[in-house]
Amino acid sequence: MNIPQNLQYAHSKISDVIDFPKPGIIFKDITPVLQDEKAFNEVLDDLAKHLNGANKVAGIESRGFIFASALAYLNKKPLVLLRKKNKLPGKKISQKFKLEYGIDTIEVHKSSLNKKDKVIIVDDLIATGGTALASAKLIKKCKANISAFIFLIDLFDLLGNKKLQSNGYKTFKLINFPGH
Ligand code: AMP
Repeated sequence: MNIPQNLQYAHSKISDVIDFPKPGIIFKDITPVLQDEKAFNEVLDDLAKHLNGANKVAGIESRGFIFASALAYLNKKPLVLLRKKNKLPGKKISQKFKLEYGIDTIEVHKSSLNKKDKVIIVDDLIATGGTALASAKLIKKCKANISAFIFLIDLFDLLGNKKLQSNGYKTFKLINFPGH
């Protein structure tokens, strides 16, 4: 696989956990990246280049928060939290989405976004794209615009990135892996 020179060390730190959290899943563990300053800096330095004209950075709970907050800080932009159900205290807007088994909900404070905003949506990983597409719907319910998505990892054969692109979204992904 073609790994960009500037991300080779970080790539080597991402580990596979087989059958976690359930049989058949290869879980991509990014904790070794976070725990190694060289790997973490490699990722954040690359991430910081991809704001794509956004005036706000939105992170998807929970590992998306780590990268979204760094992207916001490094570009001097505000951070918006896209949270799981019933975590936000204020008035909020919600979007349901399908999981493999069952339904999940993602929420944002109503006051976080408006029609003048251009938002970059950040998560640690894209697999089927369900979470990312629900996040896009949520941002649109707030009448805000989407500048792009950015992911540390794309499990490319699960086709989430392709789904976002075919819906007209620009995407950046730093490191590609097969998901199976
Ligand atoms: P999806 O909605 O299928 O694109 O799944 C993306 C979300 O689930 C992200 O927030 C990831 O953190 C998490 N996720 C899905 N698959 C994996 C995996 N194999 N390893 C680690 N996290 C995953």
